[in-house]
Amino acid sequence: MIDFNNVFGKRPWVIAGPCSAETEEQTLETAKQLSAKGIKVFRAGIWKPRTRPGNFEGVGSIGLEWMREVKQQTGMLTSTEVANVKHVYEALKSGIDIIWIGARTSANPFAMQEIADALKGVDIPVFVKNPVNPDVELWLGAIERLEKAGIQQIGLIHRGFSSYEKILYRNAPLWQVAIELKRRRPDLPLICDPSHIAGKREYLFEISQKALDLNVDGLMIESHICPDKAWSDAKQQLTPEDLQAMLANLVVRHVNPEGISLENLDELRYRIDEIDSDLIRLLKRRMAVSEKIGKYKKNNNMTVLQPQRWDSILNKYIQMAEENNLDKDFITKVFQAIHQESINVQVKIVNQN
Ligand code: PEP
Ligand code: MN
Repeated sequence: MIDFNNVFGKRPWVIAGPCSAETEEQTLETAKQLSAKGIKVFRAGIWKPRTRPGNFEGVGSIGLEWMREVKQQTGMLTSTEVANVKHVYEALKSGIDIIWIGARTSANPFAMQEIADALKGVDIPVFVKNPVNPDVELWLGAIERLEKAGIQQIGLIHRGFSSYEKILYRNAPLWQVAIELKRRRPDLPLICDPSHIAGKREYLFEISQKALDLNVDGLMIESHICPDKAWSDAKQQLTPEDLQAMLANLVVRHVNPEGISLENLDELRYRIDEIDSDLIRLLKRRMAVSEKIGKYKKNNNMTVLQPQRWDSILNKYIQMAEENNLDKDFITKVFQAIHQESINVQVKIVNQN
């Protein structure tokens, strides 16, 4: 067993290294610079799952020898991605300390089962990245397959989710999915991979800070001695020096900081709980009125959806939100959800015999 607290020290745990091992020199030099900056666990992709064929697909097994050198020369622990049984055997044989499952693999139950079977009886920590699609059950399923195979040390990596729409980041963070996974499995450490969420180095700080504020245990960040020349994910990598500077700027907050009285916080939480209960009671009253409206529409043969009415309601509340310094997108989402539920209630009523 690896004692993570011992290896990494204080929160946040940091795993860093290049997206891909490219050459012996690049791998070793990156590792040495990172180690000199206090990084204890090195990452490098040896086999790279690329979206389209023809891109750099990793150096393959030769890279494992460079990882052994990294370990020998720096004392860092080494980690890499495995995506099939052959990768597992080769990584284990070469003495890799920690493996992770990539986002395209955790989305595939057949691949996960084969990897889990290959890991039976092996004592190695395994980190499981979220599947590319935001499916909590699929992520949990990948973890459970490893647990059934007897893997004792499992961690989660939140790396964001693919989306069809163009968004600011490369992958949508959908923080709520990681929060839900952590709620379901509070026993498992959760680290964030801001590099694959960001896609561009300029966003790494804000994503890392947000992750820390959500109380993640650590960060996995891509770092390369010469990011612009990287053979994969060039735009999102940082030099070891920039990585150190970024880490130094992060504010690490704690769930229960030592020596801080929680009394004031308890009082505020009490007030929040009261307000939330009021919200529930108000929503109940609102839905009771929706039922009456549903009955009226049924009796008068009117459609449930009255688009003009909905438009005017939404505009009215967006304006009110602005006057009250409430975020417009937030209020839009709240009212969309309420309106949708109101429609559901009414559809049920008009179709009742
Ligand atoms: C990686 O870590 O380099 C990688 C390929 O990540 P992901 O599986 O999150 O895309
Ligand atoms: Mn990468």
